[in-house]
Amino acid sequence: MNDTQIVLVTGANKGIGRAAAGLLAAAGHTVLIGARDPRRGETAAAELRATGAEAYAIGLDVTDPATVRAAADEIDTRFGHLDALVNNAGITGSGRVNPAEAYDQVPSTVDPAMVRAVFETNVLGVIVVTNAMLPLLRRSPAPRIVNVSSGAASLTLTADPDGPLTALPASAAYSPSKTALNALTVQYANELRKDGILVNAADPGYVDTDINDHHGMLTPDQGAAVLVRLATLGADGPTGGFFAESGPVPW
Ligand code: NDP
Repeated sequence: MNDTQIVLVTGANKGIGRAAAGLLAAAGHTVLIGARDPRRGETAAAELRATGAEAYAIGLDVTDPATVRAAADEIDTRFGHLDALVNNAGITGSGRVNPAEAYDQVPSTVDPAMVRAVFETNVLGVIVVTNAMLPLLRRSPAPRIVNVSSGAASLTLTADPDGPLTALPASAAYSPSKTALNALTVQYANELRKDGILVNAADPGYVDTDINDHHGMLTPDQGAAVLVRLATLGADGPTGGFFAESGPVPW
């Protein structure tokens, strides 16, 4: 694949997405910082440019198709193509930073509006962004798509009463949204395999960010490593897989 790529990371103004953008920029790639708040996107891009990196903010709310279309038009005008898309933007609940929210997702008492909001961002948002960016990706010699999933998406791990995820509260929203994202990853991979577009899901691990009120144990750079690896896969790389930095994750 090309040495220098143009990579769009959604939700890149902070957390794992910001770290992925930093690692990609440090490796010489041009990073497009997708952010729903253009001001915070520009702050992150300016920080990276101050290190000598090629980084540009792109306003983009994954739940607002008009902003996604505008983002695709802007990338088309400025760059003409896209080499990799990292679908990183995600929420656990209403979007508020509140660990107790996980317990509002217990299936027997959940508010369907909560489920709808989480799926809107974590699943439908990925479809909207991916489909808007595919024409640009098709102009790349080696297009890659990375969907940022979670260990909580794994039916194998969550269905095991003695498994490593037994401490997670039962959830009708976040976990199922990431399981659906995994299913979508396989479907996109199957459709796009013949076009040489590699599509994989990434499990960053439990990372210290706002999304878990900084209870995660990994640094954002550690969590972002697998996103970067999957966004820069060689032509012989996998497609339709689910990977942590340590290797494949069971579905
Ligand atoms: P953060 O809350 O730090 O970052 C989330 C990012 O997504 C922010 O930039 C946020 O923007 C953005 N975002 C949310 N909704 C939208 C939207 N509608 N449009 C555009 N951007 C949006 O969390 P993380 O960095 O931890 O999460 C990144 C991804 O990693 C998520 O998909 C998450 O589910 C996944 N993940 C995280 C784990 C962890 O332990 N941290 C574990 C497993 C998976 P804004 O700043 O405007 O809110």
